[in-house]
Amino acid sequence: MAKICVIGGGASGLVAAIFAKRNGHDVTILEGNNECGKKLQITGNGRGNYFNSNMALNYYNSQNIDLLENIVNPENIAKINNFFKEIGLVANIKDGYYYPNSNQAISIKSVLLNEIKYLNIKIVYNHLVTNIKKDNNLFCITTNQGDFIADKVIIATGSKSYPKTGSTGIGYDLAKNFNHTIIPVLPALVQLKGQDSFYKEWSGIRTTVNLKLYENNQYIKQENGEIQLTDYGISGICVYNLSSLVARGLYKNKREVIHINFLPFLNFDNAMELLDWFEKRATVIKNRTISELFDSLLNYKLVNVFLKVLKIAKNKHWFDLTKNEKLSLCKMLIDYEFIVTETNSFDHAQVCSGGIPLSEINTKTMESLKVKNLYFTGEILDVDGQCGGYNLGFAWLSGMLAGENIND
Ligand SMILES: Cc1cc2nc3c(=O)[nH]c(=O)nc-3n(C[C@H](O)[C@H](O)[C@H](O)COP(=O)(O)OP(=O)(O)OC[C@H]3O[C@@H](n4cnc5c(N)ncnc54)[C@H](O)[C@@H]3O)c2cc1C
Repeated sequence: MAKICVIGGGASGLVAAIFAKRNGHDVTILEGNNECGKKLQITGNGRGNYFNSNMALNYYNSQNIDLLENIVNPENIAKINNFFKEIGLVANIKDGYYYPNSNQAISIKSVLLNEIKYLNIKIVYNHLVTNIKKDNNLFCITTNQGDFIADKVIIATGSKSYPKTGSTGIGYDLAKNFNHTIIPVLPALVQLKGQDSFYKEWSGIRTTVNLKLYENNQYIKQENGEIQLTDYGISGICVYNLSSLVARGLYKNKREVIHINFLPFLNFDNAMELLDWFEKRATVIKNRTISELFDSLLNYKLVNVFLKVLKIAKNKHWFDLTKNEKLSLCKMLIDYEFIVTETNSFDHAQVCSGGIPLSEINTKTMESLKVKNLYFTGEILDVDGQCGGYNLGFAWLSGMLAGENIND
């Protein structure tokens, strides 16, 4: 039986502790907060989207995506699903997204803590780990309230996102002290800020769009869904799903532009096609002002913003517009270029991109390749997933592997 300290009682730490204890070890969780799973309980807008039925690797970003397969694979997915069933979590699966049937993220935390209690795993609250040293095969763990000794350590301290939940980024320093590299840590699943001056006027609008990301004028990726227009730029799941790539690009001084199509249901590729469509619409629905021509097509407020920006009077008629005015309007509607200036801060980012490279970890056991008996799980590693349960999914799977493979 080995004495194991798990640093951090978040999503991955709780699962790692359970598997390590079931594996016959003496397990203690050192948690900086006065409670475990503070971030877990706010996931999925409080509903806890904890897994996905399609865990394909292309929903993840990592510099070593090939190694991720050792963690996210059908065998491990089956095991973790079985684990959650076994500890009593009832899933409600909507379009492949797993939620607890209670629709409350706090239920996930509860079922994990019930198992922790049943297994008699010790949790030491309000103990923030500030340093870890390895001497004579033993780890000496310094906290703000005294030291702990362990044979093996699992670092599950999370990233730097939503630091008020306890993940302040201190884990990266602990890893650096053991000569681990840290791939630059950047906000991901986060809102984007842009350069235009009129965003205050479109703030509050939600509408369905198609987004195409271009990096240095090269097409990268597209997303469809509901966007939220804010006073600084854009938000919403489809924006979040591009944000990790945008953050990495901005970090390398690349020009990141998101082309927004506000009328994706028309399936037009360019402004000329939309112009022709409006010509026909204005012929069929006669004697309407330009504003009236947009009735039911798009949010009024958004139409007014675009007309104001282009200095087109809303009481004008379509056929009174110049060709240039028509084209500029159609271009704005179908191919508005949102030039990204920065992402929102870590305080608002659901996850972080970057962290410890998977190449420095044995991805079958989560043990460090640099330090024997030291393990890493969860978001501290260089893996970030899209929205849809992928980040918690990675936290559970990596936690399970660490706990399960820890040997005497
Ligand atoms: C608002 C929001 C919504 C989200 N929604 C979803 C979702 O619906 N689906 C999804 O898959 N993912 C979601 N995520 C992401 C997901 O919550 C994280 O990826 C996941 O919690 C990471 O797990 P972790 O164990 O690595 O870290 P965390 O869950 O952050 O846990 C880290 C723990 O370590 C503790 N700690 C940190 N440093 C120390 C230290 N030095 N000493 C002691 N303790 C320490 C912290 O207090 C914390 O308890 C969301 C995130 C946010 C912020």
